[in-house]
Amino acid sequence: MYIWLLNFKKNLHTSNSSDIKEKTESVEELNEKELLSRAEQSFQTLHDLLKSEEKKAKKLRISFYFGGPGLYLNGCLLSFLKKDKTAFKQNLQDLLSYKSIILNSPDKFYKEILYGVSGYLHCLLKLQSLFQDHPDASDFHTDLSEHVTELVELIVNDGIRSYDPDGVDLKELPHDFRLVYDFHEREYLGGAHGLFGVLYTLLRAYQLNNDYFAKEKDGKFLITVKASLELLIKYQRKNGNFPTRFVEKGHDDAVQFCHGSPGAIHCLLLASKIFKGEDIGTKCLNAAVLAGENIWEYGILKKGFGLCHGISGNGYGLLELYKETDDKNWLYRAYCFALLKKDKHYTDEIAAYDFSDRFTTGISDYPFSLMLGLSGDICYYADCLFPENAR
Ligand SMILES: [Zn+2]
Repeated sequence: MYIWLLNFKKNLHTSNSSDIKEKTESVEELNEKELLSRAEQSFQTLHDLLKSEEKKAKKLRISFYFGGPGLYLNGCLLSFLKKDKTAFKQNLQDLLSYKSIILNSPDKFYKEILYGVSGYLHCLLKLQSLFQDHPDASDFHTDLSEHVTELVELIVNDGIRSYDPDGVDLKELPHDFRLVYDFHEREYLGGAHGLFGVLYTLLRAYQLNNDYFAKEKDGKFLITVKASLELLIKYQRKNGNFPTRFVEKGHDDAVQFCHGSPGAIHCLLLASKIFKGEDIGTKCLNAAVLAGENIWEYGILKKGFGLCHGISGNGYGLLELYKETDDKNWLYRAYCFALLKKDKHYTDEIAAYDFSDRFTTGISDYPFSLMLGLSGDICYYADCLFPENAR
């Protein structure tokens, strides 16, 4: 949040919009030193908490969203900002210590992004994207490609083995082939627990480690990933949404990041960029646009705001479409979603909506968190102002 606020402040200062500049004064109150010190305090508190939790926990949490890796990734970013190379190395070492645990007993861990190995890989990819080639980060240069590709191998092989323990003929894949990952013994399609989330991470690894994949002789990665995308697109509903699971019919469709079109759109757009000029690239782009129409039509949720199953997470799909297509209509739609928080009729509906998964009607279970609370909403509103920086 500290890094994010700094960038936000910088963007406000460099913006040409007078309307935005008028609001800059209130942002002056964001004291950088104070923010950094709060970030350090939060890190230390969470670090102590993590250490005592990991001693007691029966199962180690390994992803960006849950457990140590997300914290150590933030520790790396924090020590980079403080120009503290020793702390950076320590955090990196702590982060990488989870990799050997995963590789030693991969079957103990899910492969999806929220709790699983893809969520761990996400941490390494974030560091790769920031520190591998960044000119300002040369003192903190870190080559993670070997670690990343080991995990990619593990995830792809697991997906093939879960489809068929005897393996598959890559030259003649069955018509229903896709990489298979289970979560609580179910196979999901969505962004959080399903195939779209895993594929997004794999494609990001592909994008950042081209040299490694160019050497792959059997083409296993590209063949299996493209086949998975082809099958997912076949399951897209006429209205643009995707089912929660691989079933043709059913009434289990959700329009939220964790299940449905909002979680699919990021993977489809990344694939359309990577496979531009190929048939699969065009199919992915068309599917993403259709998914965007679905969000626009059905993405206003009575569950409220937040990123995981809320209006802000759905709005990010619209913003991403604007970034990729440059079509301002998507930006307008993203703004409309953001403005709903000021709409009394809508906020009254949320307050009264009895959502069975919640502790209290109308209130998020974690009201200040990134995925279910205000932190995610704040990121979304500011990204609406500077969509080119949204990620
Ligand atoms: Zn959710």
